[in-house]
Amino acid sequence: MRANPRRDTKPEIALRSALHRRGLRFRKDLPIRLPERVVRPDVVFTRQRLAVFVDGCFWHCCPIHGNAPKTNTGYWGPKLQRNVDRDHAVNEQLRAAGWTVLRAWEHEQPQEVAKSVEGALRDLPTPAS
Ligand SMILES: [Zn+2]
Repeated sequence: MRANPRRDTKPEIALRSALHRRGLRFRKDLPIRLPERVVRPDVVFTRQRLAVFVDGCFWHCCPIHGNAPKTNTGYWGPKLQRNVDRDHAVNEQLRAAGWTVLRAWEHEQPQEVAKSVEGALRDLPTPAS
């Protein structure tokens, strides 16, 4: 198992094609430079400043599937906790920089997630140009 969540996982690809089918235009893996770090949300709507993440159930400790492995808990416990802490910090730092953050679990239906994204975009002001 690799230490870092990988790019272009199946749930991300499924969400992107669901968004495409709704006619939404976005950037993928666009780096956003924050004062504290650089983050790469899975999907970015630059004009509306909406960042979307699809979180892996294991790595991000989903309440349904995120049970930490029973073996080697001294390693996995703190490691997974660090991921969760980092997610929270990233959310706060993005919001502080004027972004809206939307996180979905990989087990969620891509169609449902795309619907939430579309709804969030509708509520966000779009600057002219
Ligand atoms: Zn899950």
